[in-house]
Amino acid sequence: MKKHNFYAGPSILSEYTIKNTAEAILNFADTGLSVLEVSHRSKEFQAVIDEATALVKEILEIPEGFSVLWLGGGASMQFCMIPYNFLNHKASYIDTGTWASNAIKEARLFGEVDVVASSKEANYTFIPKGWKVAEGSEYFHYTSNNTIYGTEIRVDPSVPVPMICDMSSDIFSRHIDWSKYIAVYAGAQKNLAPAGVTIAILRDDALGHVDRQIPTMLDYRTHIKKGSMFNTPPVLPIFSALQTLRYYKQLGGLNELERRDLEKAALLYDAIDNSRMFEGTVTDPADRSIMNVCFVMKPEYKELEKEFVDFCSERGIVGIKGHRSVGGFRASLYNALPIESVQVLVEAMKDFEYKH
Ligand SMILES: *Cc1c(COP(=O)(O)O)cnc(C)c1O
Repeated sequence: MKKHNFYAGPSILSEYTIKNTAEAILNFADTGLSVLEVSHRSKEFQAVIDEATALVKEILEIPEGFSVLWLGGGASMQFCMIPYNFLNHKASYIDTGTWASNAIKEARLFGEVDVVASSKEANYTFIPKGWKVAEGSEYFHYTSNNTIYGTEIRVDPSVPVPMICDMSSDIFSRHIDWSKYIAVYAGAQKNLAPAGVTIAILRDDALGHVDRQIPTMLDYRTHIKKGSMFNTPPVLPIFSALQTLRYYKQLGGLNELERRDLEKAALLYDAIDNSRMFEGTVTDPADRSIMNVCFVMKPEYKELEKEFVDFCSERGIVGIKGHRSVGGFRASLYNALPIESVQVLVEAMKDFEYKH
């Protein structure tokens, strides 16, 4: 049976990515070797990382003066690398979910952290508005898409200090105004590649301004100097990332990716809002994520939630169980998910409603 993969991460990859990765596991770039067993310093792999880096810059329209890095340690490692490299005295953060609050916790090890606002009391069901960055902050950090709660900041905020953003779960779904940023990072396992690599995009002249010593591996300048090859990078995830990037470029880049993402999200939110049985957990349409759609059953149908998950799995729908801190359902509509899968889910919701 055809599967419809709504997992939140690791998550669906394009068929193009999977097929080319599978082929390279058997024979990489006609070397007669598997991509799993070649030196990261071979000319064939150097060509992979060079093209992948160039495509990230091209597709995300990154201007001169920024470096693109391929790092291990996941997005969670960036929660400490960012303050290690950028926080001298004080930084501002907004608390919009678990990942944002994990980033805040790490930053506090390095200096004063001004939390401009938090929606924790409301279980992160909205994006706080009307806040202000504190005087003397060196940067403002935010999480553009709150993967667990289904909220998203889709417009680059305007603040009087340089910005840093965790875009792990919505990178490649919109244009970025690079003039506002000194760093953007993203774990690859939501919209790019299998788990194991994180991209960090850094403004070169923003580095080197903190007073502390930085351990070699945690200093962005180490990796910039060595083109992400100071130590062995995650070879296979980078190879897969290149396939996804080629696929994104063929599709037409950000404009087309965003158009598809908006269309898929509209289809599902529409079905939720017009349903007798389901309701969205994020009520303000301006805050709703186009990547992770969170919904629950209305109180009078609550006991049917488990049955709905089983009903879906009979139709090949996988990965829609909500995160334990929200409950209900979460459908992740990452770039690689075809609109047909959303149609199948919407059909299932209607049929289930009809059945009851
Ligand atoms: C998944 C996720 C993370 C954590 O990524 P790891 O690579 O597992 O450390 C951080 N931030 C956001 C927004 C995420 O979606």
